[in-house]
Amino acid sequence: MSGAPDGTRGAEAPEVERRMLIGGRWVDARSGATWDLVDPGRGVAIDRVAFGDADDARAAVDAAATAFRGWSRLPPHRRGEVLEAAADWIRARADALARLSAEESGKPLGEAKAEWLSACNHLTWFAAEGARAYGRIVPARVPTRRIEVRPEPIGVVATITAWNFPVYNVVRSWAAALAAGCTVVGRPSELTPRSAFALAQALHESGAPAGVVNVVNGDPAGMAQAFLDDPRVRKIAFTGSPRVGKLLMDGASRTLTRLGLELGGNAPVIVFPDVDVPEVARQAATWKLRNAGQVCVSPQRFLVHADVAEAFTEAVAAEVAALHVGHAFETGTQVGPLVTDRHRERVRDLVARSVAAGAQVVEGGAALERDGFFYAPTVLRDVPEGAPVLTDEVFGPVLPVQPFRDLDQALRLANATEYGLAAFVMGHGLEAVHAAVAGLEFGMVAVNDWLPSTPEAPFGGVKGSGMGRESGAEGLAEYQELKTVYVGGLR
Ligand code: NAD
Repeated sequence: MSGAPDGTRGAEAPEVERRMLIGGRWVDARSGATWDLVDPGRGVAIDRVAFGDADDARAAVDAAATAFRGWSRLPPHRRGEVLEAAADWIRARADALARLSAEESGKPLGEAKAEWLSACNHLTWFAAEGARAYGRIVPARVPTRRIEVRPEPIGVVATITAWNFPVYNVVRSWAAALAAGCTVVGRPSELTPRSAFALAQALHESGAPAGVVNVVNGDPAGMAQAFLDDPRVRKIAFTGSPRVGKLLMDGASRTLTRLGLELGGNAPVIVFPDVDVPEVARQAATWKLRNAGQVCVSPQRFLVHADVAEAFTEAVAAEVAALHVGHAFETGTQVGPLVTDRHRERVRDLVARSVAAGAQVVEGGAALERDGFFYAPTVLRDVPEGAPVLTDEVFGPVLPVQPFRDLDQALRLANATEYGLAAFVMGHGLEAVHAAVAGLEFGMVAVNDWLPSTPEAPFGGVKGSGMGRESGAEGLAEYQELKTVYVGGLR
């Protein structure tokens, strides 16, 4: 953590590992390979972590398979105690953990801390939910028979996750899987592995027996293939791009490995004319720029009723211009960098092609001339249908505005995407809002609300945004198999 920007020197370094956790031991990669982590806010290497391959992934699966028998047979309350203790472990170190995650992901410190506290919420919620795996008695057709449906943990679960929420993407799968009685092997993004190491450390030091939680870092395709090839891995929970999701599905078609796919989004926001325009513009700027727009449920396309589109565009441009862009550790930072230079190039290209197609830049529209991978918060108007900032998942600080005249047009534009994760509706007319909710082809719809994510409700998408759900009672069920038991010969 040396060489951090002004205002950060002297901060207590988090006591976390840079190695992988396999079978209860912190280990280097078997090959000895390492990976240099980069601070996206400065564009310089900051740390070195273990970088393994398929051999390390197999060793972790061995450990998880060995630990499964003991962990799955514990009463769920005992498993819950470990999850609760891990939440306490995190709360006691939340500031240090936030620095660790903010530095490797680039997100502002406050957002990183909120993410760790949300991890605590997932751990405590699933600690209790694990004990509610009731099962069912099915009334039988014959009096001498009894039929039970028992939920059982599915077995070893491998997780492969994206960098944008280096803790949340991991914990929502791990908390549910562990509560259900599964053991886990996590393979976080190579861009942000320390956060996952720290989460594993929280569980390890809070009483998770050796092998119950394992975390490896390294070669993405090689490790994924090792998971697919191993029949003891009963599920791969993946959070990331549709591109990699399809690769996994292709691989799983040969091994029949169960997949959970939390993929990309391209969320429309329908803004009706009866809203408080300046207030919605203020909220829109804040939520659009969370994590510099690198959020799967980020409000992406703003479909604004023509009567207020001009007022909204001007108000939102002013709000966006006033946001403080800076390093994660700088006091007052509201918007951080993009995660890599490559990703920034991608965003720059999407904007350039949209402008070439006719979009007008109202605010921003360029990379920032400073260290790190910063792109200016950007507002675009007159964005033609089919422009790349509308059709592609931008995953950046770009806010295109499109006017609409009536609900049919708004819904046609909103649904004109391969994705179906989150959508937003801002308005107060009961009938119009209900009609919009009914017509949106998305897994989650937020009405006058900007955060469709919480441990107790199902999270996930339709269409190209994936399959399965994380969180909520449904999220627990994703890590259980049902065993139907027929008992005959009863009197
Ligand atoms: P990505 O698909 O490139 O990477 C995701 C993970 O897959 C990383 O750990 C990466 O190392 C790994 N990976 C890369 N190539 C692989 C391969 N050939 N085989 C197996 N694993 C491989 O995605 P990203 O750029 O890291 O993340 C951004 C994407 O994630 C966006 O599309 C975003 O919407 C999505 N996302 C979705 C959710 C959700 O809950 N739906 C949450 C967060 C992010």
